[in-house]
Amino acid sequence: MELTDAQADLTEILITEEQIRSRIAELARDVERDYAGKDVLLIGVLKGAVMVMADLSRELRIPVTMDWMAVSSYGSGTQSSGVVRILKDLDTDLSGKTVLIVEDIIDSGLTLSWLLSNLKSRGPESIEIFTLLRKPEAARVEIDVKYVGFEIPNKFVVGYGLDFDERYRTLRGVGILAPAVYS
Ligand code: 5GP
Repeated sequence: MELTDAQADLTEILITEEQIRSRIAELARDVERDYAGKDVLLIGVLKGAVMVMADLSRELRIPVTMDWMAVSSYGSGTQSSGVVRILKDLDTDLSGKTVLIVEDIIDSGLTLSWLLSNLKSRGPESIEIFTLLRKPEAARVEIDVKYVGFEIPNKFVVGYGLDFDERYRTLRGVGILAPAVYS
C-alpha cells in the first residue's frame, strides 16, 4: 500500500509531523529539568510507543537507558478490559531505578493502570508517565500523568506508531481513521 493511499483512509489529520516534533522537544526540556543529575530508565510499551521513544530519547540531553515491555489487554471488541497479560517482560531489574514510562496513547487508562501497579511493585525509586496522546473523555480510571503531548477527542486514531491491524504505523502525523476502513 502506498503511503498516499494510507493517508486517504483518514478523515482528518489531527496532529502534523511538525507539531509532534516541536511538542516532543518542548516536553523533553521539562524532562531534562525534572530529572537533572539522574540516570533515567525509559520504558516503552510495544509496539505503539516505538516512534515516541525513538524521538523523545534522541531529543533528551540527559543520560537515558531504554527497555521495552509488550502487553496484551483482553477486552471485547475495541474496549479494553484492564485484564492484562505480559507478552514480553523487561530485561532490567527496577529496584532503585528512576523510571519514566513512555506511552503512545492513554484511552480508558485501564492497561496503563495495571502496568503502573505491576511496575511499582518491583521497587523503583520513582515512576512517572510520558504519553504523546490522551483521550480525556475515554478515561475510566484516574492516572497521574506527568507529561502529556496532546489531548485528543475520543476517536480512533492511527499514525506515528499507532496502528489499525498493523497498518498505518509509519504515517508521520496522527489522524482519525475513517470508520469505513474498520466497519
Ligand atoms: P486503554 O487500556 O487505555 O483503554 O488502551 C490501551 C491501548 O489501546 C493503547 O496502548 C493502544 O494500543 C490502544 N488504543 C487506544 N486508543 C487507540 C486509538 O485511538 N488508536 C489506536 N491505534 N490504538 C488505540
